[in-house]
Amino acid sequence: MVKIFIDPGHGGSDSGATGNGIREKNITLQIATRIKNILLTEYNGVEVMMSRTTDEFVSLKDRTDAANRWGADYLLSVHINAGGGTGFESYIYPDTTAPTTTYRNNIHDAVLELVDFRDRGKKTANFHMLRESNMPAVLTENGFIDTAADADKLKSASFLTSIARGHVDGLVKNFNLKRKPTAVYHTVAPGDTVYSLSKTFKSTINQMKKWNDLDKKYTIYVGQSLRVK
Ligand SMILES: [Zn+2]
Repeated sequence: MVKIFIDPGHGGSDSGATGNGIREKNITLQIATRIKNILLTEYNGVEVMMSRTTDEFVSLKDRTDAANRWGADYLLSVHINAGGGTGFESYIYPDTTAPTTTYRNNIHDAVLELVDFRDRGKKTANFHMLRESNMPAVLTENGFIDTAADADKLKSASFLTSIARGHVDGLVKNFNLKRKPTAVYHTVAPGDTVYSLSKTFKSTINQMKKWNDLDKKYTIYVGQSLRVK
């Protein structure tokens, strides 16, 4: 099991940056929640802990303490930038080496692959979340809330999903996560048997018995919708 700690920046009384009618704390929570949901529904072998799942204040120390106590393999802190710029940048702690550098490069590149943001570069900074975490860590700054063009993008639910999916793609590469198999259903035709279908769909008769709650004789009937993979 790979343990990923996801940290939506700010929360509660700490709004983070604000501008163009939106607040950083809300956007970071939406992105982080999407990352968690995609990871847990689509991939095997991954566990997720979040520093917060609602709009509440959590101190920086409590966040890194939680990640360290849990023994996370990786810490991902999600933020939105401000100060009058545009685009995406990522941070790791200064003078860190592999795998922190490789992990960051993969996430940075994967986000920009999916998201229409200017690449502001791969940077380093002495941030609490990067310094006080015992595991490799990255902090991403996803657009500028006080730049109208970026804020307009951040107001789109599908854009936030793309940001999340970019982060997920990077995590998948970093930790070699495997997709959950997708279920396949087959309508039973005359002549089909559980055995013949298991051969056709490369599953096993035991799996098919379990998926479809079959009896001891593996009884199926024509027209039945059967999970075969
Ligand atoms: Zn922030």
